[in-house]
Amino acid sequence: MHVDRIIANAVLVDGTGRPPFRGALAVSGERIAGVGALEGWTADTVCDAGGKVLAPGFIDAHTHDDAALLEGLLEPKISQGVTSVVTGNCGVSLAPLALGPGEALPAPLDSVADRKWFRFERFADWLEALRAAGTSTNVVPLIGHGTLRVKVMDALDRPATEAEIAAMEALVDEAMAAGAFGVSSGLFYPLAAAAPASEVVRLARRAAAAGGLYTAHLRDEADAVVAALEEAIAIAAEAGLPLVVSHHKVSGARNHGRSTETLALIARAAQRQPVYLDAYPYTAGSTTLNERSWAAASRTLITWCAARPELAGRDLAEVARELGLSEVEAIRALRPAGAVYFMMDESDVERILCCPATMIGSDGIPADRHPHPRLWGSFARVLGHYSRDRGLFPLEEAVHRMTGLTAARFGLAGRGVLAEGAQADLVMFDAREVREVATFADPRRPSAGIAWVMVNGVTVWEEGRATGARPGRIAERRREAA
Ligand code: ZN
Repeated sequence: MHVDRIIANAVLVDGTGRPPFRGALAVSGERIAGVGALEGWTADTVCDAGGKVLAPGFIDAHTHDDAALLEGLLEPKISQGVTSVVTGNCGVSLAPLALGPGEALPAPLDSVADRKWFRFERFADWLEALRAAGTSTNVVPLIGHGTLRVKVMDALDRPATEAEIAAMEALVDEAMAAGAFGVSSGLFYPLAAAAPASEVVRLARRAAAAGGLYTAHLRDEADAVVAALEEAIAIAAEAGLPLVVSHHKVSGARNHGRSTETLALIARAAQRQPVYLDAYPYTAGSTTLNERSWAAASRTLITWCAARPELAGRDLAEVARELGLSEVEAIRALRPAGAVYFMMDESDVERILCCPATMIGSDGIPADRHPHPRLWGSFARVLGHYSRDRGLFPLEEAVHRMTGLTAARFGLAGRGVLAEGAQADLVMFDAREVREVATFADPRRPSAGIAWVMVNGVTVWEEGRATGARPGRIAERRREAA
């Protein structure tokens, strides 16, 4: 057998959760041609992995990369081995929404992309723009309920009317036909908070009809987290599709420890219906600058501020003191803005990461001027800090939660595992060296220990830099066997 490239002497962690094994991997064109001993195989290029780990490229189960994909090479992601990103989470997809001049862009849409990118009338137009520009990673697109509300409704502080729901249903149908994997919601945010569950059920049903899933940023992740979780589970049950609970957490000191309750609820529901979750490996969250999140936090850092860009990276309490305001007054004065909130407990983060249904998603916000370090560090931190150093789970399980598990849950065809015929999305890393370098003080730093990264057989990251290649695709959904 002669192939384009053989990577020999690697520790193969194949994404299925199976323990690592020594061997070689062959790539031909954009696919994996063989995995294992490969005796007698020849290649145009043979490289020696020197005992480094070779794994399927990571799938970021939760992103806000819809516009960043158009803007650049997504270095925060490819630098840590991510080769596919699930976009449009929390109800806020970039498309379909074309903004007229002077038209308002309600939060949190204003934090996921610059307003100039809201230029796609149809979901298919955005996908076409991605294909035309080329992307460094593959894209697993979701359509957001919040974006649809902004598109079809003249006021967001009320439930949608029957006519508005019908218009949103048609847009979900259009997006699913164009290649969306499902619908997302973010009932926490004011732009969607007035929506009753029944409104989301209608849209989720359209996604279900096309074989999609539903991802939910819960209405509440603090005191009312259990009721909010029950609501999301009920929406998915009624619509008849799998649920992914987004960036699962319990916020606020008085809720610390309650992940035992939420995970038990998820496990019970999972006996009746498909329920999964994603999580990022940090005790701080990040979203718009808002009073509810601030109230649950022990400390708040500003990530961006439209009126005072120089405040990005500053502590809110300190800024409030300088302004002679209370923190609540400062929040009101500084908006629109974004923030990092220290509001979770380490034991909850670890318990959630260990749940068998948990996939890794960064929830990074690339448009932030001073982003949460999860944007550049989530995957390396799970591999280094949580798996290797803390021993939370073995390496093969860490990799599974960022590859095979995610591909199976989202129904990605031909990705997430090292197997003959699968797409050659690959990452090679040093298991002893891999770690996140990004910090809260200095968040835009590539992770250590990542040797190179390949998307569809083309190298996108090597020797600490992006190669400039854009071999990404819009991912394809696996067709269920009839
Ligand atoms: Zn969210």
